[in-house]
Amino acid sequence: MHIQLFNTLSKQKETVSSREVKIYSCGPTVYNYAHIGNFRSYLFADVLNRTLRLAGYQVQHAMNLTDVDDKTIKGAIALSEKEPGKYADLKQALAAYTEPYTEAFFADLKTLNVCKFDFHPRATDYIPAMLDLVDRLIAQGVAYEQDGSVYYRISEKKDYGKLSRIDLEKNKTGTRYNTDEYDKDDVRDFVLWKAEGKEGVHWHSSHGDGRPGWHLECSAMIHEIFKGAIDIHTGGVDLIFPHHENEIAQSESGYGDGFVKHWVHCEHLLVDNKKMSKSAGNFYTLRDLLAQGRRPEVIRYFLLAAHYSQKVNYTADALHQAEAGVEKFYGLLARLDRLQKIDAAADATLAATAKEAREKFMAELADDLNTPRALAVVLEFIRAANTNIDAKNDQLSSADLEVIRQTLTYFDQVLGLIDLMPKAQVGDDLQQLLAERNAARAAKDFKRADALRDQLLAAGYKILDTKSGSHLEKV
Ligand SMILES: [Zn+2]
Repeated sequence: MHIQLFNTLSKQKETVSSREVKIYSCGPTVYNYAHIGNFRSYLFADVLNRTLRLAGYQVQHAMNLTDVDDKTIKGAIALSEKEPGKYADLKQALAAYTEPYTEAFFADLKTLNVCKFDFHPRATDYIPAMLDLVDRLIAQGVAYEQDGSVYYRISEKKDYGKLSRIDLEKNKTGTRYNTDEYDKDDVRDFVLWKAEGKEGVHWHSSHGDGRPGWHLECSAMIHEIFKGAIDIHTGGVDLIFPHHENEIAQSESGYGDGFVKHWVHCEHLLVDNKKMSKSAGNFYTLRDLLAQGRRPEVIRYFLLAAHYSQKVNYTADALHQAEAGVEKFYGLLARLDRLQKIDAAADATLAATAKEAREKFMAELADDLNTPRALAVVLEFIRAANTNIDAKNDQLSSADLEVIRQTLTYFDQVLGLIDLMPKAQVGDDLQQLLAERNAARAAKDFKRADALRDQLLAAGYKILDTKSGSHLEKV
């Protein structure tokens, strides 16, 4: 199966033709806890990775950690001022400042069952590679020094702006930008190496003491890790300009053409139809949502339920819908565990339905990772499987049971929900109450049976009476 992806550069869907795929995804700046909008982008990278693997591609995937930039340096300075004398230098303070956020990032990925990628390079481990790229750009005549900093001269790159399609009329070549982040209205020469004195985090270099510009980090790390061009580069839409535009300029000028084949960008997440912001009071980290009682598997499903190229709106309603989807998936899995296995022939119709569902699921994902349509296929299969089980009075042959289980497991290679399924821990005391209630019912002592039912409900469990017996399910 071949996967097609919409390429931001060509503005059309293109087939990922190489069977060995190198992917780079822009990761977090570890200056704070990542918010739920950031996680949309990381989960998108996860779905892309899982889909390619399921389709038979060999994948090598890197997601970086930006641990040196304007924001992390500001945090390191504040930390060293708070505890004077604790750190030998600002580099140590920077490491101390970013470490807890790095750990939190990995913990959060685990919470959402985002697979660990093959490489998680930290920018501060790649300073020599970054300086090598600066030297290459100076040698190519596209970079120049000014007051100890080195800048990329964008007028030297004839196709500068090809990814973001910025208006080059506004090109202020010769005027410079020293900060890591700026807008489209400020197309200027951007900083590759920023002069930094004793009061800032710095490394020695032939250009003087300084530190890398944010854009330079990704270009150098990609080259160092993959030793050449890559197939897919992902990130949020907010990174198209200037970050990815500048990555293209640096990598193509410094290492030669053919930097990235497919540029794939994930849209924003809105909260109640508004852009997330601290001032609007709708800014949530993953930890905030968990503290509100949201379940990781529901958040994961919610993020999968929208196509990555569409804005997604985080609302209580959307979350309820996601929860209903998760419950259907888990509900069928739990039902399979309760079923009565019987000696019977395999059901050819069920096998055909399952095969068709698996193929449709893959086909939807192959079409530019259409996760909402793939989820619709999953729900349709769950409905068909439940109807099939109903018709068989909860008695299934081993072959049929395996067909359903394997189909859910197949879907789950991309959905990643099974690992997040809460383990139902029903204690012996509750099982004892259930046995007493069943005995009371059998003896037609309905008053006592109802009292025991209420006792179980108070303990958080409802009774499910099925053809294969009574079971407890968490309310
Ligand atoms: Zn990047």
